[in-house]
This record gives sequence, structure tokens and C-alpha cells, in this order.
Amino acid sequence: LNSKLPTVGTTIFSVMSKLAQQHNAINLSQGFPDYATNPKLINFVADAMKDGYNQYAPMQGLQILRELVAEKMDKMYGAYYHPETEVTITAGGTQAIFTALAAVINPGDEVIIFEPAYDCYSPTVKLLGGLVKPFELHAPDYSIDWEMVKKLFTANTRMIILNSPHNPSGSILSKADIQALIKLTKNTDILIISDEVYEHIIFDGEKHESVALYPELQERSFIVASYGKLLHTTGWKLGYCLAPAKLMAEFRKIHQFNVFSVNTPMQLGVANYLKSENIYDSLSSFFQQKRDLFRSLLSETKFKLLPCKGSYFQCVSYSNFSDEKDIDMAKRLVTDFGVAGIPVSAFYTKGTDDKILRFCFAKEQDTLEKAVERLLKV
Ligand code: PMP
Ligand code: GLN
Repeated sequence: LNSKLPTVGTTIFSVMSKLAQQHNAINLSQGFPDYATNPKLINFVADAMKDGYNQYAPMQGLQILRELVAEKMDKMYGAYYHPETEVTITAGGTQAIFTALAAVINPGDEVIIFEPAYDCYSPTVKLLGGLVKPFELHAPDYSIDWEMVKKLFTANTRMIILNSPHNPSGSILSKADIQALIKLTKNTDILIISDEVYEHIIFDGEKHESVALYPELQERSFIVASYGKLLHTTGWKLGYCLAPAKLMAEFRKIHQFNVFSVNTPMQLGVANYLKSENIYDSLSSFFQQKRDLFRSLLSETKFKLLPCKGSYFQCVSYSNFSDEKDIDMAKRLVTDFGVAGIPVSAFYTKGTDDKILRFCFAKEQDTLEKAVERLLKV
């Protein structure tokens, strides 16, 4: 068999979670909450099943949920997305990313990806015959030199993938970043995927700079969101994609033959839950408490804290006490100390190793305390 992705192995998330399980370690590697899902939300989903909503949803998603998405975009960003033609419910953010890329990337198209990057972007681009143009960012602040980015532009540049708040670094795009991007893409036909799955997890009073706030970017962007992050339900694999009608029409051509539609009772349950309470405003403070606790506990360890402005990931550096490869350090933390994290080199095409590990703090206080107790022994 001629592999379509010869250099791709198993995603680091599966690798580390499996290792954590094997060694009964505290799993701060793969990003998912370890606390219970809101029973009210579960009841809404169960009710939808009991009420008979168990057959195919419309291809583009339930109208009620698409309308709620459009309403939120209007309220939060003053952006108008037509629920009929510009919002599609997806099986999580991952499927939205895959489908958006499949809709527009032709063989030979170049896609600029800021690294470290969430691990599904590059393989998907390659699968489609696209060429990945990685642009490396580095600790401590992972800031972007846009003049350097410009140097990557060629006649074949088709797309830029953005991700803010950023996984794994916890950095966020500033207004200045957005202005630079607007300037750079002006008079080009470059498209954008803006992965905004952590849009509601942003700290210290900072504001999320959605591309939806900027018409010049909005008109060329697919925005990707995930209810896994918003509702603490990563296993439900529910999300959505937003794009201007012309782009969304192309997206749906693929979506209809990729999944056709997304599971119905989940969509209805989530819609009814979102109608019953405003959950958007409290998420950042919920996670800021966890971030602050985790950071203050970690500050007693040998690890050096990197900034964390958004997302539920805290990166730490260990170059001050070891030059071990980050994958080896991550494995040793599991086997010898019982704590799993993610080696950030896994998110660079070249495997760049800045001696940084990523820990997920979407965990019970008790979990974070126990994990740091163990890390104190390192
Ligand atoms: N993008 C980023 C940056 C993510 O962290 C994740 C989830 N870890 C996704 C996309 C995918 O979201 P989902 O789980 O809804 O597919
Ligand atoms: N998004 C999660 C993370 O970054 C994991 C997603 C996955 O396992 N594919 O850890």
C-alpha cells in the first residue's frame, strides 16, 4: 500500500493518554476536563432522545442551533452570519477544519501554519496535496513577526491558519496582530481558517480578537468553534463552522458527503441548554481560577512557567535543569513521577525542541494539587 501520509504516526494525544493510562498517571496531557458534565445539559440531551429526535438532522444542522450561533456572533462580535447559508454544525472543530481545507485546497496550494500548531492542520493539508509552509514561533511569548511572515507569501499562497487563543502556547492574537494581517492580506485572494475553539477561555480581562470583528478578514475566513470546549464535553464532538455564503456553499458540498449531518439529539439538547442560560460569560473566570491555582502551585516546582493568556493549557520550560529531549522528559514524568503532559516538539514540523511541556488545567482542584505534589519531586 502506498501510504498517503507516510511520515504521519499516531497523534501525540493518543500516545500520551495511553501511556498515562498504562502507568496510572495523572493525565494532564490530552486536553479534556475530568469533572462531571452539567446534569441540566445532560437532561436536555436525554429529553431530546426521549422526545424522538433520533433521526437525521438537516445536513447543515438544526435550525434552532444555527440561529443561536448567529445570535451569539451578533451579540459578541457584531458580526452577521445568516443561519441558513453561513452557519454549519459539525462533528467537532476537527471536522470543521478538515472540511474547510478540503473545500478550498487544491494540489500545490500553499498553507501558512504557525507552529507549534494543533496537530490536525498539517496532515490534512498534505492529504489534499497542499504544501505546508510552517512559520515557527517560540517561547516565551510565541509572538508573530508579520514582516517575516510576508516573506513566505508566493503566488501559490492559498491560506493562513490562525488559532487564538492558541493551543499549545496559551498566547492570544492582539489587535496589532490583526491589523498586520489585514494589511498583509489586502488585495490578495488568501483565505483564512481561524480556529477559535478557545474563544471563551481568555484571561486577565483580555478581549478575544475574533476575525469576525474585522470585515476585511471576516470575508475571507472560515471560523471554527467547538462545543467540546464551551460545554466541557469534548467527547460529544459537536462544533460549527462559520463563513460567508460563497465559502460556506463550498464547505457544504464536502460536508454533505463527509458526515452528511451531525447527531440530532445532541444538537437539540445543546440548543435548549444554551437557550436556558448564558454560559458564555462565566467560562473565562471558571478557567482563570484553575489557571491561577495551577500556576501558583507550579511556581514551587523546578519548572519555569510560560505566560498563559487563554486556552486551558499551561506550558512550562525545563531547560534550566535538564537538556533531555522533551519527549523523553514527558515519558519519564509519566513512568517515574506519575504525571502526563505533552512534549511541545510534537507540534512542530521539524520537531523543534525548546524543552517545553504542555499541561492541561481543565481539571478538578484536587487533580491539579495531586499532580503538582508529584511534580515537586522532579
Ligand atoms: N483546534 C484546537 C486548537 C483544539 O485544541 C481542538 C481540540 N483539542 C480542536 C481544534 C478540535 O476540536 P474538537 O475536539 O471539537 O474536534
Ligand atoms: N484538543 C485536545 C488537545 O489539544 C485533544 C484533541 C485530541 O485528542 N485529538 O489536547
